[in-house]
Amino acid sequence: MSLDGWRAEDHDRFRGAGSFARALTGLARLAEYELLPIVTATQNTDDEADALRERYLAVLRAAGLPRPRLKLLPMFRLGREVERTGGYSPADSLADLPPGAFDPTRLQCHSCRAVTSRGVFVCPLLVDEEGARMGERIDQALGPFELSHGACSTCYTTGMTCGNA
Ligand code: SF4
Repeated sequence: MSLDGWRAEDHDRFRGAGSFARALTGLARLAEYELLPIVTATQNTDDEADALRERYLAVLRAAGLPRPRLKLLPMFRLGREVERTGGYSPADSLADLPPGAFDPTRLQCHSCRAVTSRGVFVCPLLVDEEGARMGERIDQALGPFELSHGACSTCYTTGMTCGNA
């Protein structure tokens, strides 16, 4: 489950009127059955990460989740953010970084692929991005991926991983 803001007005701006309340209702229902969903949220404000995390956790606790699990994601210049930020430029590529410059096992793409009706993509972030489709089937998509997309630089600079909270 994803939230695009810790206030209804922020989330609903991206997802539509009433969607924040519906999301919290759904989360509360899961908690009633002692399920502990991981909520992902994007760091789309200038708030310090710790302060933002506390705001989300307070909202989730108030919604009825006694032990909320939150994963705060950096803002990627993809989708609607391309219009607002101008997206990535070729200079953002990691393709030229020397081997050993960072630990690729920490990247989401090291241990996952995104399977869609349009084929298999290197990671969920780059679904439908040019060059990120690795094949029709999962067995065609298990090889290495050159980290040449600008979004890879956001993973690199923010330490974004697929580890769960
Ligand atoms: S954006 Fe690049 S570095 Fe990040 S998970 Fe996807 S392929 Fe890997």
